[in-house]
Amino acid sequence: MNDPYVTSVAQLKKIAEILKLPADVVEQLSVHDKFLEVHFPVTMDDGSVRVFTGYRAQHSNARGPYKGGIRFSPFVNPSEIRALSMWMTWKCSIADIPFGGGKGGVIVDTKQCSSAELERISRAYIRAIHEIVGPDKDVPAPDMYTTPEMMGWMADEYAKIVGKYTPAMITAKPVEKGGIEGRTEATGLGGFYVFQNLAEREHLDPKQTTIAVQGIGNVGYYIARYAHEAGYRVVAIADSKHAIRNDQGIDIDAAIGFKKEHGSLEGMAGTTIISNEELLTLPVDVLIPAATENVITVENAEAIKAKYVLEMANGPVTDEADIILEKNNITVIPDVLANSGGVTVSYFEWYQNMHDERWTKEKTFSELKKKMDSAFDAIYSYKTQNPVSFRMAAYAVGVSKVVEALKNKF
Ligand code: NAD
Repeated sequence: MNDPYVTSVAQLKKIAEILKLPADVVEQLSVHDKFLEVHFPVTMDDGSVRVFTGYRAQHSNARGPYKGGIRFSPFVNPSEIRALSMWMTWKCSIADIPFGGGKGGVIVDTKQCSSAELERISRAYIRAIHEIVGPDKDVPAPDMYTTPEMMGWMADEYAKIVGKYTPAMITAKPVEKGGIEGRTEATGLGGFYVFQNLAEREHLDPKQTTIAVQGIGNVGYYIARYAHEAGYRVVAIADSKHAIRNDQGIDIDAAIGFKKEHGSLEGMAGTTIISNEELLTLPVDVLIPAATENVITVENAEAIKAKYVLEMANGPVTDEADIILEKNNITVIPDVLANSGGVTVSYFEWYQNMHDERWTKEKTFSELKKKMDSAFDAIYSYKTQNPVSFRMAAYAVGVSKVVEALKNKF
């Protein structure tokens, strides 16, 4: 198994070579400003007390307060949290929002916990890390198996500690607790804006362009829906159980409606069932992995026929597979750009809270479009001027802005 932190440092070193960064800068960015490990007791529903372990990594605040999600999973470990925190530094820089990189996690299997237990774990975790978070210090958000409701509990617990409700200390809260309208759509819509930029540069005609989307959860659903509405032919979609295909195009809302009614995508009129593996290797123009990490690997990379891979999930293409796709002239739009709409709208939420404003969904979406367009432009123009992949161009743009900000901090 790859060690994610080792991978993140190796990536940084690769970029450092391209950008010719001095060794001391690489040394500083290879480590974290702070890494906190906490252990906290929680009373479970049966009266027993369990001690949980949590982490908060703060990679770099050169460009602003640390920003990054909190993950609840049995597989949370320090290496993963460190790597994710470093990737957040680059992602915030690429998105050009004034945040650095952070990430947190608790080792817990949420499926084994009641809602009341999850509330107590969420509150206890924020009590344990409260000294290093805050609107000007470190602003968490949800990640795997954490929800807006949990962010609401954490904001409430933080308010008790500091003596006043401070909504800007965390993002993706429920709207009634200071959350922003449009956060739900943000990641998928941001990815669609990125795709529109690509389509324009590459002269893709919607009617002639076919798309396959793996994963129709929050992210996959919205990007598939926006693409369908814009006239692209979404010819295959998948959830964790089934993949369906219709070469004429799938009506996304009809498919979701069908799944709600029948509990599964299987049997939707006009579609045929294919395997999830087949979906990845369909002869489509655009493949959008929007489910989970490491789905395109050395095992299937040679079989990928799409011309473009838009990484909406985090880390769907392994490092080895990435090399194969590049060799086969498949353009990969990297996750740090493609799915940065989520953190961008989280920034808008923080901004709104800091200035006591309330934005409409329309304003949020139009500001999101501006940010995604300019992030795409910066990376595309770097790529045009330098012989590197989209991923390397994205990292080069992201890392160089962090390095610039670090200059005044030694
Ligand atoms: P989600 O839980 O809402 O949806 C995940 C979807 O993937 C579901 O439809 C599930 O059935 C499907 N799925 C899971 N395993 C699968 C498999 N092996 N094959 C096919 N389908 C599978 O999650 P989400 O919020 O949409 O996140 C999806 C990805 O996007 C994750 O990698 C996440 O880290 C990334 N991401 C999410 C956000 C966000 O704002 N939600 C932001 C940035 C990145």
